[in-house]
Amino acid sequence: MTTDRTVIIGAGPAGLTAAWEIGRLGRKAIVLEKSAAVGGLSRTVCHDGYRFDIGGHRFFTKVPEVRALWREWLGDDFLERPRMSRIYYRGRFFDYPLRPMDALIKLGPVETGRIVLSYFRARLAPPREERNFEDWVVRRFGRRLYEIFFKSYTEKVWGLPCTEISAEWASQRIKNLDLMAALRSALVGGRSAGQVITTLIDRFSYPRMGPGMMWEACRDRLSELGIETVTGAEVTRIRHREGRVVSVVVGSSDGGEELEGTDFISSMPIRDLVAVLDPPPPAEVLEAAARLRYRDFLTVVLIVDREHVFPDNWIYVHAPEVQVGRVQNFKNWSPEMVPDEGTTSLGLEYFVQEGDELWQSPDAELRDLAAREIEELGLIRAEEVIDHAVVRARKAYPVYDAAYAEALVVIRAYLDGLGNLQLIGRNGQHRYNNQDHSMVTGLQAARNLVGAGHDIWSVNVDQEYHEEGEPAVSERLVPMPATGPNRAAVLAETFARYDPVALGGAIGTVAGLGVFAATAVLLLQGGQPLGPNLSLLGPYLFGYQVSWGGALTGLVEAGAGGFAYGWVMARLINRLVDLSLSSVIQGWEMARILDPLDRTDEPDA
Ligand SMILES: Cc1cc2nc3c(=O)[nH]c(=O)nc-3n(C[C@H](O)[C@H](O)[C@H](O)COP(=O)(O)OP(=O)(O)OC[C@H]3O[C@@H](n4cnc5c(N)ncnc54)[C@H](O)[C@@H]3O)c2cc1C
Repeated sequence: MTTDRTVIIGAGPAGLTAAWEIGRLGRKAIVLEKSAAVGGLSRTVCHDGYRFDIGGHRFFTKVPEVRALWREWLGDDFLERPRMSRIYYRGRFFDYPLRPMDALIKLGPVETGRIVLSYFRARLAPPREERNFEDWVVRRFGRRLYEIFFKSYTEKVWGLPCTEISAEWASQRIKNLDLMAALRSALVGGRSAGQVITTLIDRFSYPRMGPGMMWEACRDRLSELGIETVTGAEVTRIRHREGRVVSVVVGSSDGGEELEGTDFISSMPIRDLVAVLDPPPPAEVLEAAARLRYRDFLTVVLIVDREHVFPDNWIYVHAPEVQVGRVQNFKNWSPEMVPDEGTTSLGLEYFVQEGDELWQSPDAELRDLAAREIEELGLIRAEEVIDHAVVRARKAYPVYDAAYAEALVVIRAYLDGLGNLQLIGRNGQHRYNNQDHSMVTGLQAARNLVGAGHDIWSVNVDQEYHEEGEPAVSERLVPMPATGPNRAAVLAETFARYDPVALGGAIGTVAGLGVFAATAVLLLQGGQPLGPNLSLLGPYLFGYQVSWGGALTGLVEAGAGGFAYGWVMARLINRLVDLSLSSVIQGWEMARILDPLDRTDEPDA
């Protein structure tokens, strides 16, 4: 057995950072990477000198240690870049983050009228329940805005109807711009929440040659520390005995090379890891792992024979008539992403499922589709495309569906029994981690080897996390199914509501019987002392007088009046409770998320 050697599976941000920290602690490690490149989902692909990301990778973090590492590894090659992104819809480009005046002007007076009407309709008669993403957005923005700016893109990204995505996800993910406050601010000036955020997210850091440059630099530093990163080394078997992993097999699972170690850190997808355990875990663990799902990602890069196409880093495509979800302009991320400044490389991004029609389409067909769609968007003419490349990225997004949380509990309970195995990173933990959180899991796993005792599973959970200046979002979020109550619903349930019929009935009964009984007592006593006083009811109860007929009239009319009073009061009180709750909830949301549609690493935005 090799003494004191940690075997790290995966050379993405998590695995490489773990290796870096292990090296810094003076220990030995080896990194095994199945693909030919380092960086994982954060790699940079190169095609004839044209460099591009799997999605655009902005570098942002609130973790000082991570930022320090990025600077240490890249130095002056770590650039500060301006950000520009817009939304394409119906032949127009809307500023993103949305600016109300820009949006309203571009939508035109008729559409603006429809939006305002549907907004007020939603405010005056909001859907009582927020069962799903659609309800949540319609309630806050009105149906029309929902249809224009939310529905189509969200459904493209997740491949699910908005009615099957939870309201909780919307509340966490969508910044709750108060439309009226934003309009006021746009018309009369002042700083709306949206503006504050805009100023804070209009720059980001980016390596001069794309994100892969960071991870190549890290790999080179590792090699200086004596840590080897082996590419083309797929782990196909993980052997364990008596509660400890003893070795991994690289290459063909029956004839590959066996590598021993004292400790093991894995950033490979949990589903794959469970499937290669040797001996296999119990059936329930295998089944739980098989239930984990992912969303995949496909980029068609078109090389265009034109110097300037559009000024944005990327454009969100909300148009439902095309399948493309987003278009990247890589030279606007860094000019060095293209070898010839007279040309431009555009990345058309499609959110897909491995094995679906798009995924399986031949590259040439995908090129034609992309060229057709980009021409339809009016960005270039198809004949300007001089070259293309297609990149398919498996398991780009871990899916948080109805089954995942329970499946993870089962899997973790089993894997906790393997004392020298730690799981890190995005798919390694089936968590929507960005680069920085993935790196933190790597740092913590490394430190655990020398007794730090970190709970790696608590990284990126319930902690305040901000994109540069972004209000807190507790997790990188993916849609969850529209099941179970959301926080707003739970709060709403906590406060009792009056039943108008019950309250009306109670007040009506008391009032009616009260008048009848008082009149009856008076009549039975001879009616003198109270008579004149009760007669005062005459103007209020039509036809009332101190008589047995008047007592019945009083019973009916006071009963009806009491019922009406109770019914109206119940409705009013309920409405006041709803309004106060909604303002409390919106206050929370406003404090956390301020800009509609923000997508941090897209769908992550
Ligand atoms: C479209 C998109 C946009 C994004 N944008 C941003 C952004 O703007 N900013 C940001 O910070 N983050 C962004 N992210 C997230 C970022 O890509 C991930 O957080 C990060 O790459 C996760 O690092 P990781 O090491 O955990 O996993 P990965 O990057 O997935 O690396 C895991 C590595 O393990 C290897 N591996 C898998 N199985 C095996 C095996 N059996 N044997 C050996 N090796 C194996 C894989 O090949 C891979 O290299 C984005 C992600 C996507 C999909």
